[in-house]
Amino acid sequence: MPELPEVETVRRTLVPAVGWQISSVWTSGMGLHMARRPPVARLRKLVGARITAVRRHGKYLLLDTDRAEAILVHLGMTGRLRIHGKADPRAAHTHVVLGLGARELRFVDARRFGQVDVVARGKEREHPGLGLLGPDALDEVIDVAAMLARARDKRTTLKAFVLDQRVIAGVGNIYASEALWRAQLRPTMRTHRLSAAAAARLAAAIREVIDRALDNGGTTLSDFVDADGTEGENADYLWVYDRAGQPCMRCRTAIRRSVLQGRATYYCPTCQTP
Ligand SMILES: [Zn+2]
Repeated sequence: MPELPEVETVRRTLVPAVGWQISSVWTSGMGLHMARRPPVARLRKLVGARITAVRRHGKYLLLDTDRAEAILVHLGMTGRLRIHGKADPRAAHTHVVLGLGARELRFVDARRFGQVDVVARGKEREHPGLGLLGPDALDEVIDVAAMLARARDKRTTLKAFVLDQRVIAGVGNIYASEALWRAQLRPTMRTHRLSAAAAARLAAAIREVIDRALDNGGTTLSDFVDADGTEGENADYLWVYDRAGQPCMRCRTAIRRSVLQGRATYYCPTCQTP
């Protein structure tokens, strides 16, 4: 599933579309996330509009237009958003195509957990997905005191806390394991036991993990490619994720895999304190 660094990588590869005019709209008519169909009538009203910016908050992409609306895209599990030449053959599972003169912006999503929607520009926060999001892990400084206060009354595991998009937007399963390893904190630790020093360490680790993944073009584990179709290289740089049985890069203890809330979790039993 694409996480913040992957979505940011896609955003950067879409920047050339700024200034282009939407010339046509096509949808497959199939439902995506929660069986919702992309709003074809509202999308068609944007024919003639120009794309003025490509933004991201958490894992949501926003294509601003010179009208009052923006197009919102969430890649879900397997969504891809890429610029193609008009004559390029369309891939299977193509669900939305925005014509942009000689090019097309295509949303392809095999498992259909993604979203394409139209939102009022400046009122994106009224969208149910965006409204609940906490500060963005890349664009905003994590407020350690606020994070600690939230942790103290949450009574959940640190892993679930880091994954909670209302706490910090954009951290998913891979980078949660990575950040907790970096901060030397056990994923099963209860949040109310988090000290101020550990919270500061965790905030710094989240930022470092996201920055590092971005430098490597995102992580390609199965489906992720950026808007140019380039695979990310970050899988080669992961510290713990998907390394069960291999030596910890800090203390050489074998990395363990466990399942927390149905998601694979990787940690070092020695240097990540319980
Ligand atoms: Zn270790």
